[in-house]
Amino acid sequence: MKCPICTDSLGSDAPTLEVFFELERVPVFCNVLHKTPELARSAARGDIRLGSCSGCGMIHNVAFDPALVEYAEGYENSLHCSARFQSFAESLADRLMTKFALDDRDVVEIGAHRGEFLELLCVDGRNRGLGYDPSSPDELQRVEGRPFQLSPEFFDEGCVNGPLGLIYARHVLEHVTQPSAFIRTMLNASERGGGAAAYVEVPNGLWTLRDLGIWDIIYEHCSYFVPSSLRRLFAQQGAAPHVRETFGGQFLSAEVPAGADPTADADQDTQDLDALAGYVAKFTEAFDDRTSYWRSELAASAARGDGFAIWGAGSKGVTFLNILAEFGDSIRGVVDINPLKQGKYVAGTGHEIVGPEQLVAMAVDRVVVMNPLYVEEIGKQLDGLGYRGTVEAIG
Ligand SMILES: [Zn+2]
Repeated sequence: MKCPICTDSLGSDAPTLEVFFELERVPVFCNVLHKTPELARSAARGDIRLGSCSGCGMIHNVAFDPALVEYAEGYENSLHCSARFQSFAESLADRLMTKFALDDRDVVEIGAHRGEFLELLCVDGRNRGLGYDPSSPDELQRVEGRPFQLSPEFFDEGCVNGPLGLIYARHVLEHVTQPSAFIRTMLNASERGGGAAAYVEVPNGLWTLRDLGIWDIIYEHCSYFVPSSLRRLFAQQGAAPHVRETFGGQFLSAEVPAGADPTADADQDTQDLDALAGYVAKFTEAFDDRTSYWRSELAASAARGDGFAIWGAGSKGVTFLNILAEFGDSIRGVVDINPLKQGKYVAGTGHEIVGPEQLVAMAVDRVVVMNPLYVEEIGKQLDGLGYRGTVEAIG
């Protein structure tokens, strides 16, 4: 398969993606909640075969089948229950409002889901928002008197017919099979809106490879962006974005107009591509080392009869449980603070998701937190509930 980004400018001369990592039969959706363990275990599965592009650094699942992915109700990927995440979102909203002078402006979000971020821009920031997302829950659409509205339609540039302050998409682009077309639509819409600022945020593929954020490899993400590929994507449409790592390096953002961008030069991209090639070459071995470590930890835990639990039933937790599925019985608890997830079952393995109070009642003595950024807040929360076991970040 040719690189989907380079194909946009080079056509049939685009580099072929070189496959460097494979993972078979993972759940198609980590973020769809199941009502029974049986339904969860029979959830649709697909294969992951990651290929990388030597030209721009794009990483893409060449085995991705768009027909398997249809976002529907039951999809729940909100991270806003965590205080750490909420504080990141609030400071990002402040930053965008200041940088792009968003006050009393119209803003558009592509893939708005429950509208939590749109609310920050509109309620706190006195703007008016319209969010597009076929997976937005019905009850959150068309709420009277609210400064932002959610529409279940797919966005296209024709949706913009007047002055716009900002158009943005957070954690959408990695699900899209034609990223160039997506960015083109977004930038055309920005032009129709009188030169609106544009902002895109994705998981940082470099964090996955360099910092071994291996639990972020999920079927729903057909693409994994690194700074050079994200920059190339915008550059092909004539835009020069400011690309940077955020959220402890786990996210990557691109914004235009960029202002002065110290990182945007060709030499830097060449160095980045060289470094990336090194991470790609070592990735399968590093992945195997890390998963072997957890296999032996879980085997030892089962032998001792320990109460092992994981905290976080999002992408990372669901991936962990599925990769280590043969040790599923030795995982006593799977916790998530999102009440919409509690009482539901994990895709693939059928573990029940419980709340923190239930966890404490389950004779658990080791809690592994799936996102290292949340360890401190979770430690405090568990302490407040009288938990006396250990709390550690996933390694
Ligand atoms: Zn490429």
